[in-house]
Amino acid sequence: MTSQEVELRKELIFYARKCESRDMLVYTQGNFSTRLPGTEYALITPSDIPYDDMEPEDIVVVDMDGKKVDGKYRPSSEAPIHTEAMKRHPGVNACAHVESPYINALSALNIEVKPVLGNFVYLFGGRGLAMGPSIKSGSAEFASATLDAMGDKFGVIWKNHGAFCVGQDIKTAFKRCVMAEQCARVYYLALALGKGEPDLIPDEIREEMVEAAAAAGWIKAI
Ligand SMILES: [Zn+2]
Repeated sequence: MTSQEVELRKELIFYARKCESRDMLVYTQGNFSTRLPGTEYALITPSDIPYDDMEPEDIVVVDMDGKKVDGKYRPSSEAPIHTEAMKRHPGVNACAHVESPYINALSALNIEVKPVLGNFVYLFGGRGLAMGPSIKSGSAEFASATLDAMGDKFGVIWKNHGAFCVGQDIKTAFKRCVMAEQCARVYYLALALGKGEPDLIPDEIREEMVEAAAAAGWIKAI
């Protein structure tokens, strides 16, 4: 195993633990993946192993159909959507799935996460989060339908389940999960005050933010 691969494995565990510490997943929930450079494979977190106990050698190597190539554990059952996202989008090198409560609360009521915060606009290139279909996750069919719904966005909500964000690296995919949940939380809190629909970032400012994000290289990948 190259030192680069060891670092990538460590990064997956590092960001998974960060998501757990930020209440964006519970116990063994969520899954995190990254391409293995120079190969047709990806690295993904194993199924049913708590992140606190996870070691770099526990990370599983899968092919681009999400099938295990190497590793002592089973890959995450969500591997098909991770590898399908990488197949469809050559600029997507990493994916993160979390089960964030504010995104889930809003989407359970079919309420879209609206841009009340600039960081949500910057990180998602002004495109927001897509709403995926209600299909049980973990299959190629789910992966295909959900990524169809995602289109050219950088993230998609799995209804009654969580969020899935992509990026040029795992840090970017993680940041998108964080910013989406923060925006959902603020939007939820503002709605909960019962004063009506909160003010959103005006269109012209949003456009300026998207231009700035593009110039900074934050919205590459799709
Ligand atoms: Zn999940």
